Amino acid sequence: MSEINPVEQIVTVTGPIAPDEAGITDAHNHLWISPVPGAAPDAPVLNDRKVIEAGLKEYLRAGGGTIVDCQPGGCGRDGRILHELSKISGVKVVASTGYHRRRYYSTDYWLLNASTNAAYRYFVSELTDRLEETHDSVPEVRAGVIKIAFEETLEKSPLYLAEAAATAAAATGAALEVHTERGADVERIFRELQGYGLQPDRIILCHMDKRPDFELHSTMAQEGILLEYDTFYRPKYQPESNVWPLLEHMVAAGLADCIAIATDMAESNLWAKMDGSPGLAGLVSQVVPKMKQHGFPPETIRNLAGGNIARRLARPSGQNS
Ligand SMILES: [Zn+2]
Repeated sequence: MSEINPVEQIVTVTGPIAPDEAGITDAHNHLWISPVPGAAPDAPVLNDRKVIEAGLKEYLRAGGGTIVDCQPGGCGRDGRILHELSKISGVKVVASTGYHRRRYYSTDYWLLNASTNAAYRYFVSELTDRLEETHDSVPEVRAGVIKIAFEETLEKSPLYLAEAAATAAAATGAALEVHTERGADVERIFRELQGYGLQPDRIILCHMDKRPDFELHSTMAQEGILLEYDTFYRPKYQPESNVWPLLEHMVAAGLADCIAIATDMAESNLWAKMDGSPGLAGLVSQVVPKMKQHGFPPETIRNLAGGNIARRLARPSGQNS
């Protein structure tokens, strides 16, 4: 960590920034999802431009800085629109390459039948050159993170793609955000990713608070992995009796640097302006104040709500172009 590094930058859709420019950051969210012909009928769609713009402006006004968009290419991502939304709102946006669960694609999507090598080249080109949908557009937009998805078990997951993504992350210095099915099988997922040569500090395990087992979280944190928590607005997961006590326990154990908070609002009913609640700004206007009420020190809050994810997203600038 303390070796002499070239300048480290976070690649956003509008260009690279220094990690300390990211500010309050939602570590896992979804800003735009175009409808995907052939995907599962209940696959989420987020394509109301006005509502999304208003939500982003509100996020900025509340004090938010950056949002990591976790929709990879082929399942609804549109880098051109992410770029416009970021420009219009002033919110910095990090786009993802990678792959999601199979159900979010049409069955003939090329990546699902690609070789490990072809997938690797695709991920690296989106990180270092441009997103595929911005090939013919000005400006070019690059991915700032790799987002991948595991099913409930390793056996049910496309490991040839996991290998491609992990080796692309290792080659470029990019971080790997990993969708888990409520934290299922993460002990083996971690070993698998490590086996592909990926350092633990490049790994972000998502939705971990859906498996609020302190021993597990503490072991994973001590390995150097970043754990992403996002059930603050999901009554189904009983945040008062799960994520909040877990967060307190982790902070008290000195492991706050291994957690990033997020809102993961792929479902439109969580967007205030779509008649749900609490909207994009909730992370800033509700979760952060509640962390204060819990007595977390200001620096801890800054890290949980931005600093930790920013340090993981940062990669050597030489790898960015
Ligand atoms: Zn998500």
